[in-house]
Amino acid sequence: MADDRAEVSNFEIVNHYFDLAADRLGVPEDIRAVLRSAYREVQVQIPVRLSDGKIHVYSGYRVQHNGARGPYKGGIRFHPEVDLDEVRALASLMTWKTAIAGIPFGGAKGGVNCPADELERSEVQAISRSFMDKIEKVLGPTRDIPAPDVNTNAQVMAWMMDEYGKLHGHTPAVVTGKPISLEGSYGREAATGRGLVYLYREAAPSLGLTPSETRVVVQGYGNVGSWAARIMQQLGCRLVAASDARGAIRHDGGIDADALAEHVAAGGRVAEFPGAEEISPEELLAVECEVFIPAALGGMIHAQNADLLNCRVIIEGANSPTTPRADEILTEKGVFIVPDVMANAGGVVVSYFEWAQNLQHFRWDEREVNDKLGTIMRRAYREVVARTKEDEGTSLRVAAYAMGIERVLEAARTRGYI
Ligand code: NAD
Repeated sequence: MADDRAEVSNFEIVNHYFDLAADRLGVPEDIRAVLRSAYREVQVQIPVRLSDGKIHVYSGYRVQHNGARGPYKGGIRFHPEVDLDEVRALASLMTWKTAIAGIPFGGAKGGVNCPADELERSEVQAISRSFMDKIEKVLGPTRDIPAPDVNTNAQVMAWMMDEYGKLHGHTPAVVTGKPISLEGSYGREAATGRGLVYLYREAAPSLGLTPSETRVVVQGYGNVGSWAARIMQQLGCRLVAASDARGAIRHDGGIDADALAEHVAAGGRVAEFPGAEEISPEELLAVECEVFIPAALGGMIHAQNADLLNCRVIIEGANSPTTPRADEILTEKGVFIVPDVMANAGGVVVSYFEWAQNLQHFRWDEREVNDKLGTIMRRAYREVVARTKEDEGTSLRVAAYAMGIERVLEAARTRGYI
């Protein structure tokens, strides 16, 4: 049984699931040691003068976990809790995620431990450019291609691309998640949320769910959470509760997902949204619903609060939102969990499309992007479900990790690495 602590790091979470899958596959210990550790880890100093007149020194990280299947790929997070272990965990998750989705990338992640949401725009720009200056030597369209993650967005990617271009010439394919005006891809901003919805549509029939009878709760109404809610609403589902870092709301009659997204985009707090009742973050977990979407940070559903959840399905938008013990508690309760490592792959899949378009200096329309995204997400889901049937008693999560590990091992063996 997994341990009962409420605080479990992303690193422990990812390694636990990796080990469960590696046990299932019988991966020998020496090969596991290769797969657990990263190929390259870069840590840099980012000093910036803030508006208080003082120089603040942040730490920046880029971890390239495994490149057997292609160039490293993974987002960059700006958050005070970023540290090397977290970035390592998220980088390895990207290795399995790109393999499960069947796209030709390895796994990486980056981050800066700055409080981006409290900084001025010019300060965030200075940090983005300084970080790129320090890590550009290990990046490039055939080496490692960053993308947005928590507290970074298309604007941050534009600054980073511009900084890279000063040294290497205009190179749009060095980052993805760029603005449309700077060779970004149609559909990228909504892609992770849209990917979650494709998997809801795949899973719903076998669970007896129809959109008109599906109530949705979103924890973390940011990029992933708000797009998932808006697209679920287009299908006919009802958003009944939502939260951000500063509060939560519920309204059983339905919250207008588009209006809430506009309210947040205009700088409003979720808890200030008119017409809904303010509740605590714990109360949000207990709101009765069919689909619960964690879309904030890792480890937020843990041993001490998993029992509160009152849903049929969890579709993990966030990375590592569910600790191993919470996963056991929820599975015992009969909750169907669609794990992060397949559920939130939509962002990296459309990042792949963006990179492919940039390399060809060509642009696809949004319908083409969304259709191709749907094809890849459905294929991954069906392949993982088929594995759970072949190997009885395996969860979607362990089956997905096992599929990812197998594909990486095959590539590494074929290259002659192991
Ligand atoms: P974001 O910064 O746009 O949104 C994060 C949201 O979570 C914000 O609303 C924030 O206020 C909220 N939040 C933070 N702490 C919270 C707390 N304690 N309680 C409730 N809400 C809290 O970030 P995002 O890009 O939407 O990413 C969200 C999650 O999805 C992360 O775990 C990220 O790694 C994962 N993810 C993102 C993408 C992507 O394409 N953006 C792709 C795959 C996975």
